[in-house]
Amino acid sequence: MTEAAANNVDNDEVAKFEKMAHRWWDPDGDFKPLHDINPLRADYIGQRVELSGAKILDVGCGGGILTEALANRGATASGIDMGEGPLQVAKLHALESQTEVTYERSTAEDYARTHAEAFDAVACMEMLEHVPDIGSTVAACAALTKPGGNLFFSTINRTPAAYALLILGAEYITGTLPRGTHDYRKFIRPSELSAACRAAGLQVRDISGMGYNPFSRRASLNKDTKANYLVHAVKP
Ligand code: SAH
Repeated sequence: MTEAAANNVDNDEVAKFEKMAHRWWDPDGDFKPLHDINPLRADYIGQRVELSGAKILDVGCGGGILTEALANRGATASGIDMGEGPLQVAKLHALESQTEVTYERSTAEDYARTHAEAFDAVACMEMLEHVPDIGSTVAACAALTKPGGNLFFSTINRTPAAYALLILGAEYITGTLPRGTHDYRKFIRPSELSAACRAAGLQVRDISGMGYNPFSRRASLNKDTKANYLVHAVKP
């Protein structure tokens, strides 16, 4: 790994995911919310790009929940992540489900050095709130995307409502997420993510709120970005 990329990895954050990796594909386990929101995320992307035949990179792919969904919708999908455990789980799951996907251990920054403008679309979901420097990750995602290509980010807003929902609620009250999954200080305001997109030369096309009810386990898109939200940007 190069120095720039090494600097933009929080090893404690990656270690959290290493520990939980074996439970990644349990729809009722630690990653339950990711399973529940996944069809919505994949649809959001599918409504904005022609997935059939598109070359898509999933940055911070973890166990590959979104990567496989994109491949199942016709994309040529690959995933990168810094976690060894999550990647092993992702590779094994793809074998079992007979989904054609490729995985590599890399940061977005390093991958961009060897795969500049190689992808029609880049997705980076539920990952930015775990990296030290979101500007660096967003710029690397932009560098990976072909001119005219699309980028999709999702993360969590830094608001009292997000604290109540995602830390108090999900980690301490309902137990939907393991305690310590999220650090409030690393949550990202939509204005900060938009600024990072602009600094990387991207144009933001849409910001949508994503509601998730842990009891009904339903996810929906709305205009309320107080907690989870999705961003669609394009590279001119
Ligand atoms: N994007 C997936 C997984 C989200 S969990 C999904 O939404 O389904 C966050 C993932 O980001 C973990 O697998 C973790 O290992 C990875 N990650 C954290 N920091 C990273 C970094 N700097 N580079 C690459 N991957 C990273």
